[in-house]
Amino acid sequence: MKYIEKLNKQILNTQKMIDSTNELLIKNNSDTMLVFMLQQDEGLLKTLKQVRTKETLSFLKNNVSTSEQLLQKIYMVVPFEINPIDVAQKLGILVMKNSLLNDSEAGKCYINDEIVIEYKPQFTHNRERFSVAHELGHVVKHMAHANNTHYEDSTELLYARNDYIDSLNPIEKEADEFAGNILVPKQKILELLHSLEGSEQISTKLLCDIFKVSEGALYHTLSSYRMSQNLKIKKEYSWV
Ligand SMILES: [Zn+2]
Repeated sequence: MKYIEKLNKQILNTQKMIDSTNELLIKNNSDTMLVFMLQQDEGLLKTLKQVRTKETLSFLKNNVSTSEQLLQKIYMVVPFEINPIDVAQKLGILVMKNSLLNDSEAGKCYINDEIVIEYKPQFTHNRERFSVAHELGHVVKHMAHANNTHYEDSTELLYARNDYIDSLNPIEKEADEFAGNILVPKQKILELLHSLEGSEQISTKLLCDIFKVSEGALYHTLSSYRMSQNLKIKKEYSWV
């Protein structure tokens, strides 16, 4: 992680240098020295991004196989509301909102010198959070371990919607599960349940508010933790 942090800073600084050289170039129309500096910095930026991509993929491959492990590497204290964009950026992944994605695409991830996650604007913030977390799942579980470095996702494959369609594709299912697990960390659910006294309950509605996930995502995540029948959790789903 330390090396990735260092590369993140170097890339940010190089980008700043490029931006300021570009500004100077506007004022000093095609100054040859400035053009030369720009080319040098752009070459450096490309190389730094490629080095970071290699570093991130090998870090993930060797140190992270679950969302729990990733959260431990990223945060000193795991927060209740996980920001998947923040997690991705700490790993040196570029996250971009892209309204031009095809109607069938909710998000995609690929490598273009750097690792890129694109996601489509959605009606709800929670739905967007889930899309980013799902793509992050592909990067951690699939991209880091395989040769296929390009994943495009159709909306139908994501269970952020209440009408979850059980995907036949195990890769998509794995990314969905990863997304649910990172947005609703098991450790944080257990903390909440332990804080309840006697017959006190916490509702699924409140859990959705705390973790900023849809009912569908919460439902499937609790099932994966074998907690869907937990008596301390009051079922308040809109479909019940
Ligand atoms: Zn996917």
